[in-house]
Amino acid sequence: MTSSDSLISSIYDPASAAATRTLLAELGAAPNRTLGQNFLINRGVLDRIVETASVSAEDAVLEVGPGLGALTCRLVSRAGQVAAIEKDAQFISLLQRHLPAPNFHLVPGDALQVAWSDLHLPETHVKVVANLPYFISKPMLRRLLEDWRPHLQSATLTVQREVADRIAAPPNTSAYGPMAIMTQLYASARRVFDISPGSFLPPPAVTSSVVHIQIKPAPSVHLEDERVFWNVVRVAFGQRRKQLGKVLQSIISDKTALASILETQSINPQRRGETLNLEEFARLSNYLATLKSEF
Ligand code: SAM
Repeated sequence: MTSSDSLISSIYDPASAAATRTLLAELGAAPNRTLGQNFLINRGVLDRIVETASVSAEDAVLEVGPGLGALTCRLVSRAGQVAAIEKDAQFISLLQRHLPAPNFHLVPGDALQVAWSDLHLPETHVKVVANLPYFISKPMLRRLLEDWRPHLQSATLTVQREVADRIAAPPNTSAYGPMAIMTQLYASARRVFDISPGSFLPPPAVTSSVVHIQIKPAPSVHLEDERVFWNVVRVAFGQRRKQLGKVLQSIISDKTALASILETQSINPQRRGETLNLEEFARLSNYLATLKSEF
């Protein structure tokens, strides 16, 4: 425990059903479903999230959606610096009032729109810790991995369990698809633990999971042309149960040419897209990129 830890946590900790209800009543607010407002009320779970992110005084942390601040107060007490982006204006003044810490910077706005420069965070090695609103988990993951990756070291995200499975899925599983491929391209990911609906107020309809994503210093594979790569991935998973020799005809219409391309890349045309690993997708798309003018 640091000295600021005891100071802030003892003064403000909304992580209980009673405290959450009281704060919402003070604001005259009800949880807004369209903003995915399911507040964490389980202190053990919150501490485990912070442990999973291994936040220490050397770290700069970005939180998406601080809400009433249950996770925020823990991050502010442990990290060197915290920035949090909140879309719901009614929480802004509440957080400013309750967490007046010099190492905390609150950014009103939409996390899918805010510019990195508005966060006043270091340019590299930032740790993201967030209990994400369910409906922005997919675009937010893309934002983190594609746009903000150079600034990040890791992301510890609370998402629907089904989304966590899709992020961390290996090939040949029903959860494997573009989300797993994007994650594997830029990071390594593991589902760390589940959170039952009762740990939130209001309880969501589904189980949640905490997923830890460690950003790689460079992409896992070289891509000649990302557009071609994602086109192949999209087509392969568009009809995931169909053989590649058939579905990829939307890219290479000549059946014989397609079969020979797949053979050159040591990929059996009878395989389905969901069986290809990242290296195979990269190899195939890199080869197709060299034939770009032909399709
Ligand atoms: N961190 C709090 C907790 O764990 O109790 C609240 C988490 S709640 C699941 C999601 C939070 O994200 C809410 O405070 C909501 O207002 C906010 N939010 C929703 N959409 C957002 C967006 N596009 N950008 C920033 N914050 C958003």
